[in-house]
Amino acid sequence: MNFKIFRRIIKGLVLLLSVYAILNFAPNKYFMLIVLASILFITLFLRTVFCGWICPMGTLFDLIRELGKKIGNLSVMRPINNPYKKWVKKNKSVLNKIDRYSRYFRYAFFLWILQSIFLGIASIKSEGERGIMSVLYVVITMLILGLLIEISWCKYICPVGAFLGLVSKLSPTRISRNEDACINCRICSKVCPMNIDVANKKFVKDIDCQTCLKCVDACPVDNALALKMKIPLLHGKKLQKKDSNPSKKT
Ligand code: SF4
Ligand code: SF4
Repeated sequence: MNFKIFRRIIKGLVLLLSVYAILNFAPNKYFMLIVLASILFITLFLRTVFCGWICPMGTLFDLIRELGKKIGNLSVMRPINNPYKKWVKKNKSVLNKIDRYSRYFRYAFFLWILQSIFLGIASIKSEGERGIMSVLYVVITMLILGLLIEISWCKYICPVGAFLGLVSKLSPTRISRNEDACINCRICSKVCPMNIDVANKKFVKDIDCQTCLKCVDACPVDNALALKMKIPLLHGKKLQKKDSNPSKKT
């Protein structure tokens, strides 16, 4: 089953609804709490599906990246333009290191927001005009990065994604690779926007995974890659049954 079309429809609808809501509603704290609780609930069951399928910021940065491709095939990590290809090949290990370490920034940003909420030390509001200018610089930087790098917002900045990635560790759902069916073509690793080496894993449990299912869509083999839910208690019972069946014993 190809999820691409469903993903695009859901993302498009949520983006339109979000724009409508921003223009027409003034959300109160109860509304925000309900939204946050719903996102947490979804994450506990379906991992970071919010990031990969729902978040309007992710969709916005998908669109910005598409624009980047249109403007002279702009790209850093995934060159689609020959002159860049050589340069990226030459500097791949350095670029990968920058990519990997830059991702920690979103956890730092998340902690900064937490301390702002609970301790009120460094809120943007209290910094007045300087704070607004800082936000403006961040937005301009993110827009430029968004043109060059796929889902740069999600990778390097988003504090919500950082938090949900940690919560997703509790979820019983994960991408599962069937090693017997897999033909090791590595397409899944190549299409992953978070650069996760799916082809070398039995289960994708990474906190960076967005549960976008692009790897599942791209896999050319039926049943080699799928999103599966593994409930530990049920799994444990199944194992016990197997063990207690003498005909299965060797
Ligand atoms: S591993 Fe698959 S589901 Fe996770 S981010 Fe990569 S492509 Fe998306
Ligand atoms: S795309 Fe499918 S068949 Fe190819 S390496 Fe990944 S899981 Fe295996």
